[in-house]
Amino acid sequence: MSVRNVLIVGGGFTGLTAAIALAQRDVRVTLVDKAQAWARVGHGLTIQGNALRVFAQIGVIDEVLAVGQPEEGLKLALANGHVLAEMHTPRTGGDDLPPTIGALRPDLHEILVAKAEDLGVEIRLGVELASFESHDDSATSVLTDGTTASWDLIVIADGIKSQNRAKLGITEDRAPSGLGIWRAVTTRRPDMSGGIAFPTENDGRAYKVGYTPVSPTHCYVFVLCHPDRPDNGLEDWQEVRRLMENYHGEFDELRESIGPDTFLNHQEIEWIFVEGPWHSGRVVALGEAVHAVPPLIAQGAALCVEDALLFAEYVTGEGDLQQQLSDFHDRRIPRIKGVVDASLLLAKWEQNPGSRDAEPERVMNDALVALVPAP
Ligand SMILES: Cc1cc2nc3c(=O)[nH]c(=O)nc-3n(C[C@H](O)[C@H](O)[C@H](O)COP(=O)(O)OP(=O)(O)OC[C@H]3O[C@@H](n4cnc5c(N)ncnc54)[C@H](O)[C@@H]3O)c2cc1C
Repeated sequence: MSVRNVLIVGGGFTGLTAAIALAQRDVRVTLVDKAQAWARVGHGLTIQGNALRVFAQIGVIDEVLAVGQPEEGLKLALANGHVLAEMHTPRTGGDDLPPTIGALRPDLHEILVAKAEDLGVEIRLGVELASFESHDDSATSVLTDGTTASWDLIVIADGIKSQNRAKLGITEDRAPSGLGIWRAVTTRRPDMSGGIAFPTENDGRAYKVGYTPVSPTHCYVFVLCHPDRPDNGLEDWQEVRRLMENYHGEFDELRESIGPDTFLNHQEIEWIFVEGPWHSGRVVALGEAVHAVPPLIAQGAALCVEDALLFAEYVTGEGDLQQQLSDFHDRRIPRIKGVVDASLLLAKWEQNPGSRDAEPERVMNDALVALVPAP
């Protein structure tokens, strides 16, 4: 094995999972993140079975299942409350794991940080990569804390807004998806098990709303909408309620539960897919730095942690490192492309409700079924 010490830039799902998987294979890992401290608040996520499979492989599944709310599927309804179908989510992580769980991002993050620290990963916060150089048998970094060091590999895991991607010669950049999203963490009745509602007309409000339980008492609600927040004088919570106004059934209760104290966030949804090489010499980009999709199949984090574990397996095996990095990339591309293509098609349909050829349920299901075989 030629890789013994690695610098990881970015401590999200990708960077932390890579750090854990490498440390478990006797690699010395230093991880830097520009955040001054880890955020303790954050939104809900739907974590699919294939992410849970990775969490099982890196030894954190018990902790993850303890903070998550398992779900077998979700209810598909029209905005007026009429239920169309119950969708059973394919078990992308195999029969031993739930098809999905809902959980709060900071809870999952905390589990990964604790595991990385237990394994001796050195984590340095408030630090960025100022510059790097790749040589035949090492890569050197200059960090913003003024230190210079030499590594067998540098991993760029700094997310969709990566400041380092272009320095690897990658010319693709993030692009708008045409969608924006509001997310709110709020209360739910215990029998409300998760669902999505589609609009019956294009009335300029929400393209779609949905919710996922994250605990026996709470859920996160998402509202897909136009990316621009209108300047209508409404406070954030009032704007979310306005966007949800025509959604009924369970969404009446969820809307009423949103108020001035609700934890809310609005963002434009962007995407990127780098089909060409992810590495240059001994510096490699992983996760959302090279592939991010509108979260319409909820596969973002799953693909990131799959990247991270598989990457660690490749680069700690016997063989030529450049060949390993190429083989790893070639193996990832078709799997990720399937999710990218399906997510972009779904994003197009979201913006054109009533498209005659729209089959969102089939496209979501097919994309997930394709992920059932291990990566
Ligand atoms: C609205 C929305 C909803 C989503 N919902 C889901 C969902 O339900 N299920 C799901 O699986 N996925 C979902 N995703 C996708 C998921 O959040 C991402 O796939 C995942 O978080 C990406 O992980 P990452 O580690 O690659 O990047 P990030 O999570 O972005 O982490 C990057 C890290 O790098 C650090 N960083 C950035 N720049 C630098 C720098 N220059 N130097 C050092 N550190 C740096 C950041 O502080 C951060 O800690 C959603 C995404 C969005 C936008």
